[in-house]
Amino acid sequence: MSVSLLRWVVKKTARRAMVAASVVSGSLGLRRLFGRVPVVRVLTYHRFGDAHRDPWCVDAASFEAQMRWLAERRLAVSLDDIERFVRGEQDLPHGAVLVTMDDGFSSVLHIAAPIMQRHGIASVAYVTTGFVGTVSASGERYLSWDEVARLPAAGVTVGSHAHTHRSMAQLPPSDAFDEAVRSRQLLEQHTGRPVRSFAYPFGMRPDESAATARMLSGAGYSTVFIAQHGALQRGADLARLPRVKVEGGDPMWLFKWLCRGGMDGWKLFDDTLWKLQKPALSEQR
Ligand SMILES: [Zn+2]
Repeated sequence: MSVSLLRWVVKKTARRAMVAASVVSGSLGLRRLFGRVPVVRVLTYHRFGDAHRDPWCVDAASFEAQMRWLAERRLAVSLDDIERFVRGEQDLPHGAVLVTMDDGFSSVLHIAAPIMQRHGIASVAYVTTGFVGTVSASGERYLSWDEVARLPAAGVTVGSHAHTHRSMAQLPPSDAFDEAVRSRQLLEQHTGRPVRSFAYPFGMRPDESAATARMLSGAGYSTVFIAQHGALQRGADLARLPRVKVEGGDPMWLFKWLCRGGMDGWKLFDDTLWKLQKPALSEQR
């Protein structure tokens, strides 16, 4: 779904200004902030393909260049690597990156997976099980169950993005629990693999809470991701792991800076301005 030209320009300018400010201020020297502790990041994508002025869709050529860059620097790691790193059981290089993709669009299997396989890059697809086999309001095809089942062999770990893509913290607790368990069971049934990772739909502050974190742990999830920005270090809270969103239209220089922490400062906006954000602004399908 493309956005208005004005909103596109405003959003793109804000992202570039944030990254430029990080570069200029030297706040990218996060090692200074964290001492010499290694810092890693988790990237969030949604769809892949040719879409005009659509921040949720990254074109294949850009994605190929991004994956090649990660592969050449040996920066890409798996979900297991990230979990063990946070638990203090494994070292990772400073600046290591995990690729994740939300919502379960068919372009994950048909466009992104072959590119990542060529570059030996592991990834996680967070699938909204109620969307499987359907088409989005903007005409984008979601994965079918047959396609979901093919993801592990294509090098893509499968995680849950709930069953109906509603805000978990806004649902009655029993409904949220049902979403968490039902989606996990469906994904395990169709992939034949254990599903232990969850990414919150929307994933902004109003969409998650201490109560939903406890509930997700009880529903069998050992790693849970939010959509708020930030880097990860050893000892991070596995129940609310921040990520960094990659948008369609991001030039290569911006992608490199995202991987180096250029959007980590956006955490301030996620933490302080979330009350001003309408859900539709935090994520759009
Ligand atoms: Zn989503």
